[in-house]
Amino acid sequence: MHAIWMVLASKNDSFHYELYRDMSKVQMARPGHRIPAVTLYAEPDEVQTAFEKMTKAWICFECGCEFDLLGSMGQLECYQHPGTLQEDGRWSCCGQYQNPVRWSHNWPVQRMFDSCGTDRSKPPYQPVARVRGCQRCDHNTSSAAFTHDDAMQITDLSALLPVINKEFPFYLRTGFDEGVLRRCAKRKIVVPSNAARVVYMDNDAERRTYTPETDGRVPEGMEILACDANGDTIANWH
Ligand SMILES: [Zn+2]
Ligand SMILES: [Zn+2]
Repeated sequence: MHAIWMVLASKNDSFHYELYRDMSKVQMARPGHRIPAVTLYAEPDEVQTAFEKMTKAWICFECGCEFDLLGSMGQLECYQHPGTLQEDGRWSCCGQYQNPVRWSHNWPVQRMFDSCGTDRSKPPYQPVARVRGCQRCDHNTSSAAFTHDDAMQITDLSALLPVINKEFPFYLRTGFDEGVLRRCAKRKIVVPSNAARVVYMDNDAERRTYTPETDGRVPEGMEILACDANGDTIANWH
């Protein structure tokens, strides 16, 4: 959906093209696109590059607020749905319904009379109200959810720790957990009632399989795929 608006906006006016050119640059930073490791042995220019990334202002794709990584990394100040949007419009992770996107025929005219088209801090369309995510996470610059694979090793940030701590001590950050800064909170995996097998990522980003019948307690992690007794992939989790 965003991509469509991007094309519409860029075709029609150069101002929005500029805006979106900036924003698309921002969106290139995927959750998996990490701050490079900057250990105590890092070269000064490596530290400088990482520092620039950490202090740059970003716009959060999830909540629209402005943030920088230096102050917000590992603080889990935002919310995401780690699952997928099912065909019935519900999230596989929590069963909540996503608000439907409705095309408004008078929008091309109406947009000329509200601040959405002129205010540089807002996108040139009314974003669809999003249902708040069911998992706490860091602010995100892409639509891909954070996973435990995005956790940042504290030792990989050692050259930046003095500046990070000045902003907010890393060990007091919500996502601080056994030597890593998590980018999303720990939670239990979701198991569909008819699941015979659930493939998931555990808290250490290892891929594992959970078999409800024999494994007992539901483990922590993030579900990837579920199959029923016939081995068919489950599409509706709720
Ligand atoms: Zn959810
Ligand atoms: Zn956010």
